[in-house]
Formats: sequence, C-alpha cells, structure tokens
Amino acid sequence: MTAVRCDNCDWTGDEEVMGRTLLEVHQLAERLNPGSIVPHGECPECGAFCYATTTRYTVLLRYPDYLSDCGTETYLAHVEAKDVGSAQRLAQAIASGSEEDDAQLAFAVLMVCEGFVNDIKED
Ligand SMILES: [Zn+2]
Repeated sequence: MTAVRCDNCDWTGDEEVMGRTLLEVHQLAERLNPGSIVPHGECPECGAFCYATTTRYTVLLRYPDYLSDCGTETYLAHVEAKDVGSAQRLAQAIASGSEEDDAQLAFAVLMVCEGFVNDIKED
C-alpha cells in the first residue's frame, strides 16, 4: 500500500482507492511532458494526477560493537518514508528490533540513498 496525494485538491488516500491507476489514466502521454514525474494515477475527486507521499530509501547501518565481533558488520534496510530523517529512524528501529532510542541509535547510519538498492559491496 502506498499513500498518495492529489496535486490539485490535496485529496489523500491509498493508491488502491484512486480514481484511476497509472495504466488507466486517459491521454497519459498528452498530459505528461519530458522530465515530468510519473504519477501514481488520478484523483477520485477532481481527476488531477496523484503522487506518492513517501519515497523509497535504502539505508545502510553498522551494527553496534556489542552485537558484532569485529565492528564492521552492516545491516541493509529498504524503507518507505516521507524524508531521509524518517527513513533513518525507521531503519534503525527495524534493525534494533527495539522501541528504545538508545538501542536504535547504537546502529550508526553509514549511507542513505533513494530507491531500493540491493547490491552494495566492498571492492
Ligand atoms: Zn484532486
């Protein structure tokens, strides 16, 4: 489920209750210009484009020393969040499996990038 927002009337909802999905949008090619952000679909209220309110992020964390033998073990998380800060906090919560700030912050953030990246390796 992806939360979406209308670009025109500020309607918000889940992509499953949009008026039309991307593939059903009328005259899509005529309504998009080169370089346009591709919408999720059409607003059920006014017919304007709807866009996702969250972005996919890949967050690479380092395990705290007390959970790792050598201090170089990493944790890769894929999350959807509204901004980079939210993505980091969500990934730290998932990695630590804890609701406590101290446990979450023990996972140091090494890298955050947009999109779901699967293959991050050292040379
Ligand atoms: Zn609308």
